[in-house]
Amino acid sequence: MNRDAQKFFTLRFATGTKEQKLVPRLWRPAKFLQSAERNKPLSGLRIALDPGHLGGSWAKMEERWFQVGESKPVQEGDLTLCVARLLATRLRDLGAKVSFVRSADEPTTGKRPDDFRELARKILIKNGVPQPRAEVLDSTDPEKEKTIRWQSEILFYRYSEIRRRAALVNLKLHPDLVLCLHFNAEGWGDPNSPMLTDANHLHLLVNGSYLADELEFDDERFEMIRRLLSRTYGEELSLADTIATAMARESGLPPYAYPTTNSTTKVGTSGYVYARNLLATRLYRCPVVYCEPYVMNSKDVFARIQAGDYEGTRNINGVERKSIFREYADSVTDGLIEYYSKARGSGD
Ligand SMILES: [Zn+2]
Repeated sequence: MNRDAQKFFTLRFATGTKEQKLVPRLWRPAKFLQSAERNKPLSGLRIALDPGHLGGSWAKMEERWFQVGESKPVQEGDLTLCVARLLATRLRDLGAKVSFVRSADEPTTGKRPDDFRELARKILIKNGVPQPRAEVLDSTDPEKEKTIRWQSEILFYRYSEIRRRAALVNLKLHPDLVLCLHFNAEGWGDPNSPMLTDANHLHLLVNGSYLADELEFDDERFEMIRRLLSRTYGEELSLADTIATAMARESGLPPYAYPTTNSTTKVGTSGYVYARNLLATRLYRCPVVYCEPYVMNSKDVFARIQAGDYEGTRNINGVERKSIFREYADSVTDGLIEYYSKARGSGD
C-alpha cells in the first residue's frame, strides 16, 4: 500500500467457496442473465457505448484531425460518434438497454486545459524540463511535448476526460459491458498534408499486459487486482474474440501486428485481440471491449469516410461496399448476437 511506510495489504485466498467473499460488482456475466427470446438476444443487457475522443472543435487539439487538400477533414471523434448512434439503434432493436458515455462532440469533463497549467508545469519540471515554455510554436514544433500548452491539453482531453467517463460508467450507468469505439491510423505526418497509406487492419483490446513501471503506481496495482478478483477478464476476452471474428469477416481486414511487444500481448484465439493497459480498459469496472478497426489514413478508408454514411452499397475504389459506419456497427452487432445467443441460451 505504501512503499515508504512499508505498509502492506495482504490478500488471502478463501479455503472454500463458503468462506469466499466476492468482490462487489454491478455488472452481470452473460451466464447469469435470464435466457432470452430468439429475436431479442440482448434483452435486458445494459451496454454503454463510449465513442472515443471528442471530435468537433476539439479534434485538432487532440491530434485526431487531418485534411487532404480541400476535402472534408477527418476527425476521429466524429466518426466514432456516428458509429455509436447507428449501433445504439441496432442494439436497442435486439432488446439491449443502451447508454452513451459521450453523446455529443463536447467533453464530459467540466475541466479545461487552462485548469491544468500549474500541474503541467510541475510534471514537466519533474520530467527534466526545468523551465518549460508556455506555448507550442506550430503543429510541427519538435519540442511541443515540452510545453505547458501541450501538457495541459493532454491532461484535459485524455486524463481528466477519461476519468470523468469512468466516474459516469462506474457510479451512474452500471453497464454489463462497455464498448469503446475507435478508428485506427498510421502516422500521417503533417495533418494539413497527411500521408495516405495502403496499410489497413483491425484489432481489439482488452485490459492486461501491465508494465513494471505502471505497477509502481498504487492506483494501477489496485485497479489490476480489483479487475482480476471481479473476474472481468474471462468475460471480456470471450466477448472480444467473438466480436473480432465478426468484424474481421465483415470488413475483410487482416489483424494488426504491433511493431513491438513492450506494452501489448496477443491473447485469445481469434488472432485479432491484444491485452493492453489503457486508462479506459483499466478504469471501467466491468468488461470492456476496445475496438480499433480501419486505418483512417489508408487510401481505402479515407475514400469510404469521404463517401459518408449511406444506405445499401456503393462502388468505392472498384468494390461494392456498405458505408463504413454501417459495416462497423453491423459487424459489432453480429458479434454481440453470436456471443449472447450462445452464452445465455435461447428461451423459446
Ligand atoms: Zn482512437
